[in-house]
Amino acid sequence: MPPSPAELREPILDWFDVHARDLPWRAPDRNPWGVLVSEVMLQQTPVARVEPAWRAWMSRWPLPRDLADAPTGDVLRAWDRLGYPRRALRLQECARVVVERHGGVVPSSEPELMALPGVGSYTAAAVRAFAFGRRSVVLDTNVRRVLARSAEGVALPGPTQSAAEVRLADAYAPADDATAARWAAASMELGALVCTARAPRCDTCPVVDLCAWYAAGRPADEHAARRRTQGFVGTDRQVRGRVMALLREAIGPVPAQAVAAVWPDAIQLTRCLESLLTDGLVAKIPPLSDDAEPTYCLPH
Ligand code: SF4
Repeated sequence: MPPSPAELREPILDWFDVHARDLPWRAPDRNPWGVLVSEVMLQQTPVARVEPAWRAWMSRWPLPRDLADAPTGDVLRAWDRLGYPRRALRLQECARVVVERHGGVVPSSEPELMALPGVGSYTAAAVRAFAFGRRSVVLDTNVRRVLARSAEGVALPGPTQSAAEVRLADAYAPADDATAARWAAASMELGALVCTARAPRCDTCPVVDLCAWYAAGRPADEHAARRRTQGFVGTDRQVRGRVMALLREAIGPVPAQAVAAVWPDAIQLTRCLESLLTDGLVAKIPPLSDDAEPTYCLPH
């Protein structure tokens, strides 16, 4: 029998009271914008890299209005090595929409949050819970894993999120706003610190006596063959990262020849450069004469 919602919640909430990390976007003086920024940064980047970047970012642009007015090149430079820099552009667009449509104040309703650039259902749910203390089903990879193991008895959730998982998460979320918001943070923290993907520390887990997967003898992952592990070396993502790093660190426009030197495969480099231009992450400055070459820089 899987543990009931009440059985699972209490020990995890108690554990969280003691073990929650002291993260700046959880501080009492945080504002909803800071929570939204943290959620966008955390989408594809680990906490250890996000924390210093978030502190620097929020001291430079504490409010949506500050980010909305910033030069885009500065925003991309400040994003630095968090990866997937389109998120920085979306965040600036989001800041502009918050200023234009909401007077610079982050909205709290799900439809208004979901209408912001770069904010999907997960980020909207997280902002509602962590910034406004509202009940919402916050289902990231950590929470999915904790529920898959403890409640469903499987090693890992399926490769894509299902409607059944959302229903399960909804059933396990407490009814009242304040406890539901704490539960969202607590179940996520347990997945990040204890019930980790590769080496769950069941011996220190507050629900080891209730966990369905542990009770079943920790059976193997039935989806293992379908999971693709995405490499990085040699990918377009690596090439795009090299180009962005070159332009971030340059003090002026970079000649095409210098851009070409970052990657040996000219066809792949051209493809990546085109995609960066299309995404608005890089600007191309045409040559002043026929025998000169174009230069590239971050957008202004
Ligand atoms: S007992 Fe192990 S698998 Fe179960 S929830 Fe705790 S850490 Fe995860």
